[in-house]
Amino acid sequence: MKLAVYGKGGIGKSTTSCNISIAFAKRGKKVLQIGCDPKHDSTFTLTGFLIPTIIDTLQSKDYHYEDVWPEDVIYKGYGDVDCVEAGGPPAGAGCGGYVVGETVKLLKELNAFYEYDIILFDVLGDVVCGGFAAPLNYADYCIIVTDNGFDALFAANRIAASVREKSRVHPLRLAGLIGNRTAKRDLIDKYVEACPMPVLEVLPLIEDIRVSRVKGKTLFEMAEQDTSLCYICDFYLNIADQLLTEPEGVVPRELSDRELFTLLTDYYLNPKENDSNQSNNSSKNLNPHLNSEKNDLNQLDFFLV
Ligand code: ADP
Ligand code: MG
Repeated sequence: MKLAVYGKGGIGKSTTSCNISIAFAKRGKKVLQIGCDPKHDSTFTLTGFLIPTIIDTLQSKDYHYEDVWPEDVIYKGYGDVDCVEAGGPPAGAGCGGYVVGETVKLLKELNAFYEYDIILFDVLGDVVCGGFAAPLNYADYCIIVTDNGFDALFAANRIAASVREKSRVHPLRLAGLIGNRTAKRDLIDKYVEACPMPVLEVLPLIEDIRVSRVKGKTLFEMAEQDTSLCYICDFYLNIADQLLTEPEGVVPRELSDRELFTLLTDYYLNPKENDSNQSNNSSKNLNPHLNSEKNDLNQLDFFLV
């Protein structure tokens, strides 16, 4: 099974990917995680260091594929998860899609591409162009990581559009959303009401997850020393278990930008009571969304210009 994990930059894709990869390995699967972000830190918490990228390795061998050995580019991470970092094109030049293509080509030449039960592509998420969508060409499922805010859901909606587009020529499904770093999920729920897709899991903001990045360890490794962290691993095991059932998923029908903006304006400007048709103008100031979170107010700036 091949999975592509997408989402807005910094939303928690790599964190989620590493922990899901281990969750699959815990279920007896042979797993390869491929970092497809030029930041090349996707597999950092699995290996504990920044491994050399495929592009750097190919460059050092003058693109002689026959001179590259599996051990030059595939590194063993925690829990027996194999790790690859595709790397990136030079900033402002080249194409991320080309890099992903070269990575898959090399892994095929090394006879590694078909050796795994699960290959997970961890993909950068803000840039929506053909190159950005390249991993979807190889994936059976796309998974989108989002929080409960507009920016991440806007990115999610663009990714949903890419999935819909790619699914025309290739049997690709959207497995669903993973809510991350959020205790609230009301905007996520509003979005999936308008654009139906499963919500696989919602993880709150957990300080130990942030610490795990600093320590260069996954939650599973940290939980070996501190069993009070096992409950966090259970979130990731739950996601892996759902995916292992090969769920039907969806071919999404993304919202138009206008529909998405309307959804957001309704959410931020109209009080919750609107949902039960009890709104009036004076209640605007009582909007719980506006009163509760500074971030929400920042998102509104967008509409006030
Ligand atoms: P991305 O790969 O999407 O750019 P990362 O996985 O690198 O994002 O996560 C960005 C930061 O957010 C990291 O420091 C990570 O530890 C932290 N993080 C991710 N998920 C959570 C969470 N649920 N709670 C707290 N911190 C998180
Ligand atoms: Mg990342």
